[in-house]
Amino acid sequence: MENLENAILEIKEKLPGLKLLENEPMSAHSSFRIGGPARALAVPSDVMGFSKLCAIMRDHHVAPFLLGNGSNILFPDEGLPDLLLVSTEKMQKIFSLPDGAIYAEAGVSLSRLAAFACEQGLTGLEFASGIPGTVGGGLRMNAGAYGGEMKDVAESVVYYYLPEQALYEIPNANCQFGYRSSIFQKSAGMAILSAVFRLQPGNRDEITAKMRELNEKRRDKQPLDLPSAGSAFRRPEGHFAAALIDQAGLKGYTVGGAQVSEKHAGFVVNRGGATSKDVYDLMMHVRNAVYEKFQVELTPEIVILPPDYKLVDDTPAPKRNHIDVNDQ
Ligand SMILES: Cc1cc2nc3c(=O)[nH]c(=O)nc-3n(C[C@H](O)[C@H](O)[C@H](O)COP(=O)(O)OP(=O)(O)OC[C@H]3O[C@@H](n4cnc5c(N)ncnc54)[C@H](O)[C@@H]3O)c2cc1C
Repeated sequence: MENLENAILEIKEKLPGLKLLENEPMSAHSSFRIGGPARALAVPSDVMGFSKLCAIMRDHHVAPFLLGNGSNILFPDEGLPDLLLVSTEKMQKIFSLPDGAIYAEAGVSLSRLAAFACEQGLTGLEFASGIPGTVGGGLRMNAGAYGGEMKDVAESVVYYYLPEQALYEIPNANCQFGYRSSIFQKSAGMAILSAVFRLQPGNRDEITAKMRELNEKRRDKQPLDLPSAGSAFRRPEGHFAAALIDQAGLKGYTVGGAQVSEKHAGFVVNRGGATSKDVYDLMMHVRNAVYEKFQVELTPEIVILPPDYKLVDDTPAPKRNHIDVNDQ
């Protein structure tokens, strides 16, 4: 905790222009609308500001937690008094490169990226137009829908490697993209800053029509009127999580304010006032009930914080005072 407080003091002193929100309620930054206050949330205005911030944190052995659009995270009710989050919200540059590829910074929303590609008459990103995440969060998770994934369109990714305070660019082939996974999940301390996307020439009207069709499908099938974090569980091999949950009779199952969506059993929704414990307990119940009935193990797709809070045991591990980049 002392390291974090010293880092915050130095950040305030050395980076007075940086937007630094202290004791910020994470419910305001989560698509679930759940989460108590984090000790601090820093919003650097560009990559340079990001690097300066990380250098100070590194000096104090404090690792940041990257925040995109918060559409895939469950923050704890009790808050994160020992965490400094760094938001990519202001890292919003997007433009066409001379060879026709698209450059986008980590904070660009996937819907903006898809719309920009359409404006350029480029096809391949239609699948992403309804995913409520950012380029950074989407690449980390290899987000996908309707047969498309980030791995199909990302040519290369630039990331900041926190332990070394160095920038690296890696080609798609080295990103270890898999089903909802990438090297950025496997190696701690890799902060995605930007990416280049390679797409195919297409017809603007057809691209627009495809995006409209996919977004209508989404509205039809998903509970977009209620806060959620998308699919709660990953697709188990050979099965669909939503179908198993439905067949286990859990559609509409409720714990406090959290509910297995009546519209789409793969979603856990916040029906109003849900706590992270409600969501967690509900997910535990679903996981156990599905296992009992089908002997299929569901694992969460949602990032559950704090990092030691695992969905395999309902006793949360003790919180650490800080996350030391050297520990990870
Ligand atoms: C209604 C709804 C529908 C959804 N539909 C889909 C769907 O069709 N397909 C799908 O794949 N997902 C879907 N999702 C889930 C979510 O939108 C995606 O996983 C998205 O990629 C998360 O991006 P984000 O920017 O919100 O990440 P966040 O939720 O902010 O962060 C998620 C993880 O990524 C890390 N992260 C964020 N930014 C960076 C960065 N720059 N560098 C390194 N790590 C970073 C965070 O630390 C965290 O661990 C849906 C969610 C909702 C609420």
